[in-house]
Amino acid sequence: MRKSEIGKETKMTEVNADILPLEKKKLRACLLCSLIKTQRQFLREGCDNCDEILRLKGSADRVAVCTSAGFDGMIALTNPPSSWVSKWQRINKFQPGLYAIAVAGQLPDDIIEEDLEPRGLTYRPRDGSAHD
Ligand SMILES: [Zn+2]
Repeated sequence: MRKSEIGKETKMTEVNADILPLEKKKLRACLLCSLIKTQRQFLREGCDNCDEILRLKGSADRVAVCTSAGFDGMIALTNPPSSWVSKWQRINKFQPGLYAIAVAGQLPDDIIEEDLEPRGLTYRPRDGSAHD
């Protein structure tokens, strides 16, 4: 491993290292719901909340564009409907899991147009650009 890669890895994992999944490499956050899983988990299981919409399961391409390796902060949700944190994050209807507070990047326009809008869903970017 090159020196620059080691530095990058440390920066990613120094936050709440004890609640991170065992497989610390290639963690990514869903751009729609901010759920954090490994690239491999997204590929194998899809997103627990939005796979019906994003269809990440089995598609490395979809995982690459619909999830982001750049995210900030983590919240472990064990009982989403009763958590004030989850209400603040607008993830109170989501599955228990590890969620990012902010996710860098946005879903591509074609996915918003083809997969979200026909379902009547409005995309709220998780990168801090959405405001009430
Ligand atoms: Zn998701």
